[in-house]
Amino acid sequence: MTSVTATTVTQGPANFIRHYASQYCSNCQYDHNDLSQHLASDHLDTILNGSVRSAFSQHQHPAFDKSRYKYYDPVVDSDYTENQTWKQVKDGYDQANILEWAVQACPTSKIQHYLPQLIPPTLLILDDYDITYKIRGVHILQEIINKISDEGNVPSPSATTTKTTSSQSSAVLGRGGVDNVLIDTLFKCLTYLSDDSHHPLLRAAYPCLMDLICKTKPARSKERAQLFEKIMVNGILLGLKLGNYTVTLREILLEQLSRVYLELGVLGVQYLKVTIAALCDALTVPAVQLNRVALKSLQTLIHVCWPRIPGCHGIIIKGLATSWKYYYSDGNSSGKNSATNQQEQEMCNLIKETFKVYRSACKGTENADLDALLLYNRSLYAPLVGQQDISL
Ligand SMILES: [Zn+2]
Repeated sequence: MTSVTATTVTQGPANFIRHYASQYCSNCQYDHNDLSQHLASDHLDTILNGSVRSAFSQHQHPAFDKSRYKYYDPVVDSDYTENQTWKQVKDGYDQANILEWAVQACPTSKIQHYLPQLIPPTLLILDDYDITYKIRGVHILQEIINKISDEGNVPSPSATTTKTTSSQSSAVLGRGGVDNVLIDTLFKCLTYLSDDSHHPLLRAAYPCLMDLICKTKPARSKERAQLFEKIMVNGILLGLKLGNYTVTLREILLEQLSRVYLELGVLGVQYLKVTIAALCDALTVPAVQLNRVALKSLQTLIHVCWPRIPGCHGIIIKGLATSWKYYYSDGNSSGKNSATNQQEQEMCNLIKETFKVYRSACKGTENADLDALLLYNRSLYAPLVGQQDISL
């Protein structure tokens, strides 16, 4: 028995299927080139109800442990994190690898059927104290959610049938408040902000949490809006305030703004001052991916909150002008390789596009500021703003 390594995580599922087949498939007839498919169609039931269930059942997560009182103390009742036999690596895989394989291999039409076997161990992995397991838990949950979405989109003779299938799957995920337990656990992942090793967790947890909410809470419901507001306040804004403020962390957090604003609509206006400031500040940092993400999110914010944009135009012009100054090369490309030129051209186009969206929201109230910009450096800013003085 050894502990999990990066190789175990990537090779584990393949090691599992090879080992399982060598033990149990001597009398089976199957295509040897597609062992995974054979196990999924003929052995999935035995695997999920056998080894996976017994490995994880000794470590029932308190939220799902019916034998406990309703309330559980996270400190006193933390024995589910002790003697975790499911972490033991034997024959090149641990029990989480089996789950990783199972959710990948499980046909979308059967995912709903297996949710009762898949969700409890997924929660244990997701709520583990070790961040490497947490990340794996988020990926497993994301795969489950994706398959539920796919299942809802299976073409069917009538639109009504399709809708029923989708809502049935969501209902199974929401049965007994399972969805809320998973949502709470994912929210905890958003507080991992202090170290570079937390970035993969944040990158995976944000979309997973938003997909889960969209899958289980009706569109335009109060509950869904409140959860997205919580992502804004307890996730993004908290991260921007307390995080280690590296370029990568800011990039991850600012990337989430688009989807949150599209969900919140006018409710997002109350956070506009701080979010616009964060996006425009990110535009003053010379970092391509951060700038790209900030420009795209800025476009969404302007689209969603356009009546309030004229109130923030000073700060937006400053952000766009600073970024333009960094990327615009005035036709002077000597000493730069073609990849750099192409990237600068792409960024200039994105800044121009954002500028256009911004101007259509301002409806002329920005003209005096743009004149000032041209007066300051016409040769630099005319290609962005236009050749002529605006307000003349
Ligand atoms: Zn077999």
